Amino acid sequence: MELPVADPGPVRAEGLLLQCPYCDSEAMHKLAQFLLPGLAAVCIDCTTGDLFRKPSVVAVDMRKEMVDYVTQRSETFISDSLIESEASQDQENEMPVDPFEIVSIFMDDFSSTKRNIIGHVSGWLMSDSREDKIDDFVQEMEMTRFWPLERREVIAEVLLKNVEPENQNCEKRLLRRDMDRHCVTVCPMRPMKCPFGCDSSFPERNLEQHCSEFLQAHLHKLLKVIHKKGFTDEGLKDHALLLEKHDNDGKLAKSRDVRSLTNVVKNLEAKIKDDSS
Ligand SMILES: [Zn+2]
Ligand SMILES: [Zn+2]
Repeated sequence: MELPVADPGPVRAEGLLLQCPYCDSEAMHKLAQFLLPGLAAVCIDCTTGDLFRKPSVVAVDMRKEMVDYVTQRSETFISDSLIESEASQDQENEMPVDPFEIVSIFMDDFSSTKRNIIGHVSGWLMSDSREDKIDDFVQEMEMTRFWPLERREVIAEVLLKNVEPENQNCEKRLLRRDMDRHCVTVCPMRPMKCPFGCDSSFPERNLEQHCSEFLQAHLHKLLKVIHKKGFTDEGLKDHALLLEKHDNDGKLAKSRDVRSLTNVVKNLEAKIKDDSS
């Protein structure tokens, strides 16, 4: 009798859902950024009016307590919110789905347990001097690398994993075979360079915003090419402004690449010429 060929079992790799590295790192980074001012606020609030303790003295303990607290809340978040939505059919009371908002709520809850008497006095929370103190303390912690970004990112990653239900961001979770295509062609977070050749690069979803913010700079570059030496720098600026003035439908700002911007410019120049003749 021959031995059966060993069956290695089904191939799982294709079936595993992976998270898009661009989408993922953006959220993680945002959350990691947010942890530092969050900690600063707690340290300021719990030492205000306290002659013996300074924010920097409590920071080590507060960091640990805060991380433990938000991590623990995040661990039970999905089961808690399921129970809650079962119990109350109330749509109004639904928890937010944005992981960033969810973690903000945990942080707020934590800091409200740490406020001392003065921290509870109304007005303090909204005061400018509180904001200033928080900003200063954030700077101090950044300078001393008290809680470096890469350390915060580790925590942010855990929190995100805990509060994001598997299927919620399905567009970000992809089969390995689809990932390359996603990252190159459809991911809204994929990094791209300015199509008009500025020095900036940004996530693809910000292209629209960049094009309208930097319209003048883009126009200037393009007009320089179209009109070669026909204009002085000042003349180009005036010409760009003139084009914008005649651009009633805002087509200039809507152009996302050199070719379409060139077309819009040529149409506008023809229109201006017609108008003036
Ligand atoms: Zn993506
Ligand atoms: Zn640009």
